[in-house]
Amino acid sequence: MKNIIIFDTTLRDGEQAAGTTLNREEKLEIALQLEKLGVDVIEAGFPISSPGDYEAVKLIGSRIRESSVCALARANVKDIDRAWEAIKDANNPRIHVFISASSIQMAHQLHKSPEEVLELARTMVAHAARYTSNVEFSPMDATRADHGFIYSLVEAAIAAGATTVNIPDTVGYAMPDEFGGLVSSLFENVANIQKAVVSVHCHNDLGLAVANSLAAVKGGAGQVECTINGIGERAGNASLEEVVMAISTRQDLYDVNTGIHTEQIYRTSRLVSEITGFQVQPNKAIVGMNAFRHQSGIHQDGVIKMPKTYEIIDPQKVGVPSSSLVMGKLSGRHAFKERLAELGYNLGEEDFKHAFDAFKDLADKKKQVTDRDIESLIADEKRIYAGAYHLEKLQVTCGDGIPTAAVMLNCPDGELRGDAALGSGPIDAVYKAINRIVKVPNSLTEFTVKSITEGLDAIGEVLIRIESQGISYTGRGADTDIITASAKAYMNALNRLLAEGNNG
Ligand SMILES: [Zn+2]
Repeated sequence: MKNIIIFDTTLRDGEQAAGTTLNREEKLEIALQLEKLGVDVIEAGFPISSPGDYEAVKLIGSRIRESSVCALARANVKDIDRAWEAIKDANNPRIHVFISASSIQMAHQLHKSPEEVLELARTMVAHAARYTSNVEFSPMDATRADHGFIYSLVEAAIAAGATTVNIPDTVGYAMPDEFGGLVSSLFENVANIQKAVVSVHCHNDLGLAVANSLAAVKGGAGQVECTINGIGERAGNASLEEVVMAISTRQDLYDVNTGIHTEQIYRTSRLVSEITGFQVQPNKAIVGMNAFRHQSGIHQDGVIKMPKTYEIIDPQKVGVPSSSLVMGKLSGRHAFKERLAELGYNLGEEDFKHAFDAFKDLADKKKQVTDRDIESLIADEKRIYAGAYHLEKLQVTCGDGIPTAAVMLNCPDGELRGDAALGSGPIDAVYKAINRIVKVPNSLTEFTVKSITEGLDAIGEVLIRIESQGISYTGRGADTDIITASAKAYMNALNRLLAEGNNG
């Protein structure tokens, strides 16, 4: 069976759209998880775009062993040299060269004639091919370009050494049958097409990115470019989990495979959402909170009798933690450790101690501790102990009077410092009290709350964004108490801001 190469661009197209700067360590954390997920190629960034991006791509290239690490470059010598500089130590580096190919982009943005574009594609792919045999070429805006011109560009790029040729639907304009047709037409109109893998890169402006990618697979594409949770420019990219699960669920129609370890999908989705601050919509296919939830009585009845009556995918297959009761107040260290191992966490002694304390704390407040709770708690612990400031104590009074908050923080110098403030509401008061201690000017730009599990004693998760000097940082916090979760999220964002400052 043919293997479809999964090319993930969460760290390039996705990060570009996040409106938030991920630091090197955060990008590396995502890259390591993508490797665990089994993606074939990780597009780690666009090295010429900023020194920070260059450093992140370099770090990822030095740490990733299994997946190929790819760097993006425009069709010019400077971009390509910088891209190569960033990835040259990677195990299997790839340079991705792109150039505008539609009349509208060539005339109004690039100010070059088709002949000049063709010549640049030829010479710049050849330049990249001097560094590595793993070169990808993309004619940008291919779906709005003249097809004859795309064939010439692709043929020239392959002749110059491109081993992957990518057809991007840059503006999300194509329809599935049309796009599938364009891809299959390459095999009839490009003489040397067999020497390269045909790839596709679809955007979701009309909600068709996944459908277009699947049509392309039918048309003979051997690589699909996608992102976790479908994040990316504007309406986003084709979502990795949807493409992969469609292929896997409909093996009767797609005679192809992917190397994705599907049981890592849910964890990867959560990590990307946490780090980028992009919430996953509840009804999102595969990874949304409701993706495996049955509300209709008839459906519930069916699923209880036989899951397949209304479930086309077993939730465990994509790693969704079960929300059935697993642990409670009486569960001991050993049982907790075992459960963590089953969920895929192997914590060191110190981390385990913190996690177990937090679990006991939670079990006191909440009768039933589910896998989802544990997962959220571990993610939270990791963020709390990774930071410079820790929230020690928090007290809030609100109601009819004046909302007041008192906080006690464990500071980087080892000192405990406390302060108090009034606010327009309890969360405002908490943030003001924290500001009096941490003293970093910033503004809150986004604040969202959601519950991880059901019931009044559910764990609430708060995701926030703060902005300082034009750069935005995300923070996440989880707790059965929403105000405490908000305080944790704020500490998390502040710690990120401070860490960035220390990086220079
Ligand atoms: Zn894109």
